[in-house]
Amino acid sequence: MTNQAESKSRVYFDHAATTAIHPEVMAVFSDALQNNFGNPSSFYKEGNLASRAMNQARASIAEILEVKPEEIFFTSGGTEADNWAIKGAALAQSKKGKHLITSAIEHHAVLHSMQALEKQGFEVTYLKVDADGLVDTEDLRAAIRPDTTLVSIMYANNEIGTIQPIKELGDICRENKVLFHCDAVQALGAIPLRPKDLGVDFMSFSGHKLYGPKGIGILYKRRAARLAQLIDGGAQERNQRGGTENVPSIIAMAKAVELAYSDMEHESKRQIRLRDRLISEIPKIISYAKLNGHPNKRLPNNVNFSFEFIEGESILLLLDAFGYACSSGSACTSASLDPSHVLLGIGLPHEVAHGSLRISLGRENTDDDIDRFLQDLPKVIQRLRDMSPLYDDFKNNKIEALIPREGGNRLVREGGYGI
Ligand code: PLP
Repeated sequence: MTNQAESKSRVYFDHAATTAIHPEVMAVFSDALQNNFGNPSSFYKEGNLASRAMNQARASIAEILEVKPEEIFFTSGGTEADNWAIKGAALAQSKKGKHLITSAIEHHAVLHSMQALEKQGFEVTYLKVDADGLVDTEDLRAAIRPDTTLVSIMYANNEIGTIQPIKELGDICRENKVLFHCDAVQALGAIPLRPKDLGVDFMSFSGHKLYGPKGIGILYKRRAARLAQLIDGGAQERNQRGGTENVPSIIAMAKAVELAYSDMEHESKRQIRLRDRLISEIPKIISYAKLNGHPNKRLPNNVNFSFEFIEGESILLLLDAFGYACSSGSACTSASLDPSHVLLGIGLPHEVAHGSLRISLGRENTDDDIDRFLQDLPKVIQRLRDMSPLYDDFKNNKIEALIPREGGNRLVREGGYGI
């Protein structure tokens, strides 16, 4: 099979992990790589060209997000933006207080930044979420103390797609004069967002989640918000982040943001329709399947199901052989067999969290992909259940199902709490 034939037969359903570069983004990216190689700090024509293009990119992103160009800082990606906002804001205010608040289901870029600060004497409160993955605004209000200096809550979860009430959370931070960071890596380009309307002081974005290049991100910083420097070096980024700027990626990211915003209304409607086909059909054709995440406060492209009696990794491997690229909920990144902290955070028992599958849609997915997937997925699940000792035990009445046969969005575990 040629590569082309092979790629045609493949369906890419992992856009929350990363996206292929949009052809129009690729055109400006490769043009900049070839023709705009100058160092923006250099005082001659090539340097001026690079610096002008970078400033245009900054201005264009600022205009779309309705913020000031000087509030946009380019970083090496979402991870650096999260690290900078959290560590930089915590350190800048450490004389005022050393208490920070986040949620239990944040991306590791946030959680591990918080943990690093704990080792330096900061105290962190991890807010629990409900069965749909939502943070309770009253929990935030109750957790804020006189020594709280920063709250960090993500806009939309990368695994289960749940969208948080960011404006309400931001209002509570404002009322209490606490700085607010929001990881909006999964939200940018998927849902309309304006930092100024949301009461955030810092917001993180990444290029490769919206058909831009990898290794480029943005930290939005409200002008008056204080932030310590994380990367020491030259005077780049208005003396606040050292390192020669990644000009081609910056130009490409601006194009990616422009394209995502110009197409957002149409594309999000289209993806919601495809998403909702999967959400409504899968429980009809597969028993003991449970939707994870909020039924409607969720990203247009996110579908996440748990299937009982099988392991997420085995679903991924067999789906890969059938031609689909998907992701599981398990934390394979840490090479551990622990299930995802997000799925445990919404209350799933380990057994159920282990058998989870994330399908994240993108601009190239079609109804045909969904039709094909809905035919293949039951075969994959059946084949794996036929090999599963757990399923044997279940059929022989040795164990009971944790997910009801007809699925649904809620489980109630012994002890009585909704999971
Ligand atoms: N935050 C969230 C919610 C993400 O989904 C990701 C990427 O997976 C990141 C942060 C990290 O972004 P990057 O890959 O650009 O470092």
